[in-house]
Formats: sequence, C-alpha cells, structure tokens
Amino acid sequence: MITEEIRVDGVVQGVGFRPNVYRIAKALGLKGEVYNDGKGVLIKILGTEDKITEFVRQLQQECPPLAKINEITRTQYIGELNFDDFVISNSIHNVINTQIAADAATCPQCQAEIFDPYSRWFRYPFTNCTHCGPRLSIIRSIPYDRTNTSMAEFAMCPTCDRDYKDVTNRRFHAQPTACHVCGPKAWLERADGKPFTVPMFSMLDEIDAVCTLLQKGEIVAIKSIGGINLAYDAFYPIYGKHIIKCSKNAQKLNLSIVIISLLQFSLAGT
Ligand SMILES: [Zn+2]
Ligand SMILES: [Zn+2]
Repeated sequence: MITEEIRVDGVVQGVGFRPNVYRIAKALGLKGEVYNDGKGVLIKILGTEDKITEFVRQLQQECPPLAKINEITRTQYIGELNFDDFVISNSIHNVINTQIAADAATCPQCQAEIFDPYSRWFRYPFTNCTHCGPRLSIIRSIPYDRTNTSMAEFAMCPTCDRDYKDVTNRRFHAQPTACHVCGPKAWLERADGKPFTVPMFSMLDEIDAVCTLLQKGEIVAIKSIGGINLAYDAFYPIYGKHIIKCSKNAQKLNLSIVIISLLQFSLAGT
C-alpha cells in the first residue's frame, strides 16, 4: 500500500468533479479524501500503486462535461493517512489560483424536468445541476461554494438539501441548485412602473405572460443568468424592417443580437 497526494489543476470546481473522484475511488476500493482548495482539487489517497494508477486514468477518461483538466500531479504523501473510507471533505480557503467554469446552458436532463408536469422543477426557470447552470456570473469569491455565490441568501428547502448532500444525485454539491419552494422567483414589471392589466394576470405564470407579450409585439427585457436579453418577435410586422438597423446599433452598444434561425434572419432582413 502507498499513500499519494494528487493535485488536479484546471476547471475542476463547481462542475461535479469531486463526486466523480468519489465515485471512481469507491469503485476501486481506495481510501482517502478529496476537497477543493484555492488551487483546484486535492486528493489524498491510500491504496496499491496499480489501483491508484487506474484511478488517475479513469479521472482523465471520465471527466464531467463542464470540467477541464489541465494537469494532474502525483506526489508521494509524507505523513500518515487514517481513513477507513473515501470521503469528500470541506473546502480549504487558501491562496486562490484556480479556474471557474463559465455559465452553461440548461442540460438535456434539466430541460426534461422543466417540461415534465410530474417533476418538482416543472416550469421552474432557474433549474440547474452540476452539468449546467450559472457559475462565473454568480460567484463572489472562490473556492466555488454556495456561501460564496449570490445564491447564499436562498436557503435550500429540505428536498434540495437532501439532493445536494446525496453523492449519487446529479445535484450533489450543485451550488446554485434551487426549486419553486426555495429558489429565486421570476417576476414581471412594466418598464413604466404601471401595474399590469387584468388579462396579464390571467396567464399561467410570468413566463407564460412574457410569451403572450412577445406575440403581441412587445419588447421584453429578460434579466437572466449573466445579463439581460432584449427579446421581441422578429416576425412581428413593425420590427421586421428594423432588425438590421438594431443589429448595427447593437454593435456600437456592445450588445449582441441572437436570431433563432437563418430563415428568420432572411425574413427579418427583407
Ligand atoms: Zn442540468
Ligand atoms: Zn428547493
């Protein structure tokens, strides 16, 4: 048996890396711990040399979707490791020199939950997991833990908390995890501050109301992860002829225009 310290550099915090380390170590019967620190992820491990080599090979091969390993450094661990099992330990806050993943679009599994009427994330706009959701735009300091993000003020409900602590769950240590019960809510305001008229309140929810507003030709500023999107229906007659002009102005204002399809673009440009 040998003991090693394995340093992993790269985009390895907040991307489901530690649960992956845990899963591989457990499957190989290795003992030790893994935690985040200011430099990335540090693993202290106890096992045979063959098993540890296999562990490192699997770490590289089975990297989570948002993680990116720059370098893995193995060194002999000087000291005694007293572990009966493999554990995920608390982060250590020291010198900061690590990378955080960029925000990632909602993954297919989360999308399926948002559209599933039997899911507790049904129509919840801020659904996320370790494979998707906000990262860089919500972080205040690192290591990337919930208390260091803008999600700190949203205390998790018991169900989200259970998922967060369950190493077999896709939301294990997913820092921004949230649901209808405990997470941020979407709301709708008129730009002029006036209240919405009665028909608007008869919509299913705020998201539904926004869809109706777009269909009616309104422009909606959607404040979401990482910024504000100005949305409108390019098919709506009064906007079609203006979209190219808008694109040119957007360049000056450092904005970007996202057009859903080329077909839409060609229609909008006519
Ligand atoms: Zn997801
Ligand atoms: Zn919740």
